[in-house]
Amino acid sequence: MAKDEKLMVESLCSMLKIRAVGPENDGTGEGERGDYLVALAKKLGFGFVELLESKDPRVPSGRRPNIVIKVKGVTDRNLFVVTHMDTVPEGDLKAWKYPPYEPKLADGRIYGRGSEDNGQELIASLFGLKALLDGGVKPECNVSLVFVSDEEHGNTHGIDFLIDKGIFKKGDMTVVPDHGEADGSAICVVEKSIAWVNVEVIGKQTHASTPFHGVNALEVAARYMISVVDELRKGFGEQDQLFDVPVSTFSPTKCDANVPNINTIPGRQQFAFDFRILPDIKIDDVMAVMKSIAEKYESSYGAKINLSFVQRADAAPRTSIDSEVVKRLSAAIEAVRGVKPHPLGIGGGTCAAPFRRIGIEAAVWSTIPGVAHDANEFANIKDIVADAQVYALLFAGKNVQRA
Ligand SMILES: [Zn+2]
Repeated sequence: MAKDEKLMVESLCSMLKIRAVGPENDGTGEGERGDYLVALAKKLGFGFVELLESKDPRVPSGRRPNIVIKVKGVTDRNLFVVTHMDTVPEGDLKAWKYPPYEPKLADGRIYGRGSEDNGQELIASLFGLKALLDGGVKPECNVSLVFVSDEEHGNTHGIDFLIDKGIFKKGDMTVVPDHGEADGSAICVVEKSIAWVNVEVIGKQTHASTPFHGVNALEVAARYMISVVDELRKGFGEQDQLFDVPVSTFSPTKCDANVPNINTIPGRQQFAFDFRILPDIKIDDVMAVMKSIAEKYESSYGAKINLSFVQRADAAPRTSIDSEVVKRLSAAIEAVRGVKPHPLGIGGGTCAAPFRRIGIEAAVWSTIPGVAHDANEFANIKDIVADAQVYALLFAGKNVQRA
C-alpha cells in the first residue's frame, strides 16, 4: 500500500480541486468530479465502472452521477463500501489558512474542502481494492465501491436513488465510512432517533403595566419548556452504554424573538427542542407526554400551545454487533491498526440508516480527525494509507493468504 501513497495523495488532491457542491448551496453538483473519478478508476485498471445518473434540472449538466466499481468475488455475498462525492460549501473564505480548492500538503496532512468528508475514505476504498487487483487476489465477496451524490442534502439523488433502483438487496453487507474516531477503533452500529419539535405559544399581547389584561406567551413558554425537560428527563431516563452519550437528550435550543420593546407583554412566543432519543424509546410516547403537559398549561393560563415537527427521524433497526460485516471489519481494523474495535451508537443521523431500514447490515467506520465541515478541513495521509490497508484486508477476507 505504501507504494501507492504518492498516487493516493495525488488522486485525492486532483479530486478536491473540482468543487462538488449541491444546488441547495448554489453549487453545480458532482458531474465534473464524477467524470474525473470514472477516468481514474479506469486508469487504475478496473474493468467494471458503471455510471448511474439521477436527473436533476437544478444543475447545469442536468445529472447527478453515482458510480459503481465492481470486482467479482469467490462467493455470492455482496459487500458495498458507500462514500460520497459531494461536499458542503467552503463557508467563510477568510477562515481558511489555504484556499479550500487548492489542496495543500503540510504536516502530514492534506488540507482542502472535502478532504476528510468524504474524500479520504473514497480514495482509501479505491486503492484498497486496487491492491487486490495488483496482487492478483480475488475478493472473498463481490465488492462494489459506490461513490454517491447528494449525501450532504438528503440523499435523494444518491443513496435513495440507488436503493430505488434495487442495487442493494437484503442480506448484503455495507460499510459506510461516514463517521469515525481518530484511532479508528469505533464501529457505529446504531443511531438515536432525532426529533426537532417547534413550540408556538399563543397568548394575548398587552401593556406590561397591566399584565393581567393579557396572557404572557413568554412566561407560559418558559414554564412549559422547563416542565417538559424535567418530565422527559425523569420519565425517559433509560441508559444504553453502547452510546457515547448513554442517555436520551432533551434540549431546548432555538428561541425566536418576540416583542422589540420591554414594556409589552408578548402575545406570541416560539422556540424549539432538539431531542436525541435512544432507539428503544418511541417518539410518539415522548410526544404524548409533551401534549399532556401542554394541555395542563393551556387550561391553567388560557394560552394555546401548538407543537409541530421540524424534523422526525425514527431510529433505524440496529446492525447486530455479531453481524458478519462488523466481525469482518473488526478483524481487518485490528490486524492493521492494532486496536480493539468497539461498537458504538451515536446521536446524529448517518447514511447507514437507509440501508438498515431495508434489512442490510451497515457498519459505519473510518479513521478521521473530526474536522468535517470546518474551515481548514484536513485528512491525515497516514490515515488514508492505513484505512486503504483495512479495506484491502476486508475485501480479501479468507483469500488474504493468497496475496
Ligand atoms: Zn458532511
